[in-house]
Amino acid sequence: MPPTKLAIVGVGKIVRDQHLPAIAADPDFELIATASRHGTVDGIPAFKSIEEMLESVPGIEAVSLCMPPQYRYQAAHVALSAGKHVFLEKPPGATLSEVQDLARLAEAKGVSLFASWHSRYAPAVEAARQFLASTQIESVHVNWKEDVRHWHPNQEWIWQAGGLGVFDPGINALSIVTHVLPRAIFLTGATLEFPENRDAPIAADLVFADSTGLGVRAEFDWRQTGKQSWDIVAKTAAGEMVLSEGGAKLSIDGKIVHEEPEREYPSLYHRFSEIVRAGTSDVDLAPLTHVADAFMLGRRKFVDAFYD
Ligand code: NAP
Repeated sequence: MPPTKLAIVGVGKIVRDQHLPAIAADPDFELIATASRHGTVDGIPAFKSIEEMLESVPGIEAVSLCMPPQYRYQAAHVALSAGKHVFLEKPPGATLSEVQDLARLAEAKGVSLFASWHSRYAPAVEAARQFLASTQIESVHVNWKEDVRHWHPNQEWIWQAGGLGVFDPGINALSIVTHVLPRAIFLTGATLEFPENRDAPIAADLVFADSTGLGVRAEFDWRQTGKQSWDIVAKTAAGEMVLSEGGAKLSIDGKIVHEEPEREYPSLYHRFSEIVRAGTSDVDLAPLTHVADAFMLGRRKFVDAFYD
C-alpha cells in the first residue's frame, strides 16, 4: 500500500522529540505539510493555519494534532469535516463532550479518529496486563511524581484551565492503569492542590475502587526534585508487581521480568496506520473520564503560588 500522506499541526516539543523520528522511520506515512503559527520542519512545506494548509495541499489524507488540548477541537473539526483521518495527541481534548462530538463526526465522515495514549505502548505494559489477569490483586498504588520545572519549562498552557496541570503527566498513569486492570475502576475521593496563582493543580491524591472493592490509590505531584517516580505497584497473590519508569520495566518481588527499549511513538503510528487501513476509530475516554471525575469530586486545597 502507498504511504498515507500526513500533515502535522502544532509543531512544538513533542513533535520534535517523538513524532518526527517516528514518522521518518515508518514506511506507512509520508509527512507532506505542517501548520503551526511559528514552528516549521526542515524541507516540509509550512503553513500558518490548518485551513490554509488544507486548501493549499489537497493530497493530505491524515493529520496529527499536537497543539495543547485546549486548542485541539477546532483543528480536529476542520480536519474531519474535510474528510481527513485524525491523530489526537494526549489528552484528546479539553472536555469529554468535545471528544465525543469529534468521534461522532469521524463516524459520519467515514474517517478514522485516534485518541492516542502513548504510555499504553510502553514496553512492559502488556506484560503487566497479562500478569495482573493471571492473579488476585490486593491493592494498587500509583506514584507519578516529577519536576515540572524540568519537564515543562515556559509552558503556560499547562497551568491554564483545560491544561490539566499535574494531570498532564498523571493521565499517562491513568491510561496505563485503565488498560492493565481487569475491571473498570471509579473515583471515590480526591484532593487536588492548586497553587494560589494558577488555574490547574500541582498535585493530586486520588482514591479509586472497582466493583469487587479493590482499592487503587494514585498520587501525582509536580514538585518532585531529585529522583523522578513513574511507578505502579500492585500487591497480588503472586507477589509484588512494580511497573516502573513509566511502563518501561516490570519486576515481580524485586526480580526484573520485562525490560526493553521504549518504542511508544513508533507503536502509536503503527496503531494509527492499522485503524486507517481497517476503516475504524480508536477513542477510549476512560483516562480523561477519571480526570474529569477528579475535578468534579475532588476537594480543593490552595497551596503556595508557583513561579517558573
Ligand atoms: P508545546 O511545545 O508547548 O506546544 C506544541 C505547539 O502547539 C507549540 O509549539 C505551538 O506551536 C502550538 N500552540 C501552542 N499554543 C497554542 C495555541 N494557543 N493555539 C494553537 N497552537 C498553539 O507542547 P508539547 O510539549 O509539544 O505538548 C503538546 C501536546 O503533546 C500536549 O497535549 C501534551 O500533553 C502532549 N505530549 C507532550 C509530551 C512532552 O514530553 N512534551 C509528551 C507526550 C505528549 P506554534 O506556536 O508554532 O503554533
